[in-house]
Amino acid sequence: MKEAMFYKGIGGDRVRCNLCPWNCEIDEGERGICGVRENRNGTLYSLSYDNLTSANLDPIEKKPLFNFAPGTETYSICTAGCNWKCKYCQNWQLSQGDLTGRSISPEEIVTKAKDAGAKGISYTYTEPTIFYELAYETARIAHENGLYNTFVTNGYINPEPVRRIAPFLDAVTVDFKGSGDEDFLKEFAGVADLAPVYTSIMEYYRNGVHVEITDLIVPEIGDSKESTETMVDWIANNPGADTPLHFLRFYPAYRVKDLPPTPIETLTEAKQIAESRGMDYVYLGNVGRDNSTRCPNCGHEIITRRGPRALRVDIANGLCPNCGKPINVSGLDWTGG
Ligand code: SF4
Repeated sequence: MKEAMFYKGIGGDRVRCNLCPWNCEIDEGERGICGVRENRNGTLYSLSYDNLTSANLDPIEKKPLFNFAPGTETYSICTAGCNWKCKYCQNWQLSQGDLTGRSISPEEIVTKAKDAGAKGISYTYTEPTIFYELAYETARIAHENGLYNTFVTNGYINPEPVRRIAPFLDAVTVDFKGSGDEDFLKEFAGVADLAPVYTSIMEYYRNGVHVEITDLIVPEIGDSKESTETMVDWIANNPGADTPLHFLRFYPAYRVKDLPPTPIETLTEAKQIAESRGMDYVYLGNVGRDNSTRCPNCGHEIITRRGPRALRVDIANGLCPNCGKPINVSGLDWTGG
């Protein structure tokens, strides 16, 4: 347990948490919507700080991050809790699970990551925003030790916490879920307003964090083509057409078990929509296919992947070696490439 960052007293023993756009006003003895930040006598505490519930070594491509530090392994950690309540959560055992985990310090996490041979640490599986204090402290120490840091997030975070952690954060994967269709998200994730997600993506981007975007397409209820077109146009016009975009296949999970996995045709159609609107790097995830990265100008294979793993990187000083086009791939310092 650790005193939370980003809160203030609002009279009596009440506090307002300003970490995420819910801006919960919390009475003494109560918790915020995420269930892991508790007001004790007017002080807000992060209960997840020393309750690590999962730690694994993963290929960075599994986050997914395809245009960042390709081929490296990342030490991936999480605690319980989330600030969204997706009925189709693909990691519900972790996000909705018991808060009690392993007590481990940020220093120990960094040591374990290095001992495991990881090039970085990813804050993932559940929502890193709600274990911000642990992520912030670990990320700071990880940088001192030459490791990178990445978030896998729903992007539901206020701008100031983004600015505060950005110097220690190297890449972020933001999941739109259902192409950001607000009606769908209101019913199935309990979130009605996505404006803060757009704001945080731009905040990460402007603060120099490499951004990739995923979109979990849930068949029948979260697969609107119009929403995909709107989402793609926003990405192309804001962080830019060279932002890597991943369409992810849904598998029945948690409280949405009565739908089939996303048909491959639906995912292929979404990819075609994105490419026809000028997106440079579009991938399909959870489909068991190779997903090599090609130069958007000449088609030269610049990152060769088999399954989730990058085997070969062919980029010269940030340019395609065949045609000279600038390539949006960062984190090559950690690959030796
Ligand atoms: S982080 Fe948790 S307590 Fe803070 S505003 Fe968001 S949901 Fe509420």
